[in-house]
This record gives sequence, C-alpha cells and structure tokens, in this order.
Amino acid sequence: MIPRSDEEQDRIDNKLCANCCSPLEGRRKAYCSDRCTREYWIKHDWGSLRNSVLQKSNYTCAKCGYRIARDSLYWSLFVVDHIKPIFLGGNEFDENNLQVLCKPCDKKKTAKDKQRYYDILRGMKAVQGFELLFDGALHDEEDIFQRKLEEFQEA
Ligand SMILES: [Zn+2]
Ligand SMILES: [Zn+2]
Repeated sequence: MIPRSDEEQDRIDNKLCANCCSPLEGRRKAYCSDRCTREYWIKHDWGSLRNSVLQKSNYTCAKCGYRIARDSLYWSLFVVDHIKPIFLGGNEFDENNLQVLCKPCDKKKTAKDKQRYYDILRGMKAVQGFELLFDGALHDEEDIFQRKLEEFQEA
C-alpha cells in the first residue's frame, strides 16, 4: 500500500468521494459515482497503478506462477487483470482488484468471466420487469445497472 496523506485519511474517515468530495452513499467506498472514478483516474495515472501491481506480483502470473525477468522482452505476455471484472461490477482502479496474469491464463479467465456475465444477464432477464433496465442501461445508466447487478448477485 502507498502511504496515505492526512488529507486522504481524513477523506476516508469522513466517507467522502475522492474526486468531488461529496458524501459517499451506500456501499460506495472511494468514489460517489462511476463518473467520479473515471475522472479521478484520468487525472491520476493508470500506468503507475499498473506498474505498481506488476512490481508487487514479483513479475509472476497469479494463476500458474509463470515468472518473467524484469527486463524481459516479453512483457507483452503479461496482462494486469481485474479480478472481479468491471462488467461484473468490479472496481476498475482498486489495486486490490488487480492481478497479473500471463496471456494464456488471462484468456481462460476472460472466457469464464464472460460466461458468468451471460449467465447473470440471462438470469436477470428471467426476472419479471427487468427488461426495462436493458434499454440503454448498459451505456447510459451504468450506476443503476451496477447496483441492480449487485442486488441480483447477492440475492
Ligand atoms: Zn464524486
Ligand atoms: Zn499463467
């Protein structure tokens, strides 16, 4: 963990959005909305977060243990993966939701994640009245969609 500044700690203690400092509602932990999450990380740096995850992994695949030399030419064989995928409500920029995978392991995991997503969609569509949410929900109402998804997964 990167050490926190007093200001940051204050914000966390008071449950305020890291981007706009408005109070966090419900189970929101760092940002009040998906928009604020995005804005925050446009201002900050995805590259450094990614490097930090790679470094902490000791340049090793979290699934199969395949390891690569730090100065290897084959960096592109590794990806930084979202443990809980973004499309399943995982946090895009939470370091705890990131892991390093080699390409073959990543391919397998992505296939599984997608299957899970389609299973959930199918399940949700079976719930009466849920269709309403699907008209543009995925694009325009991400927050609502994510909330519904969480409710559904918990049910
Ligand atoms: Zn905010
Ligand atoms: Zn692997």
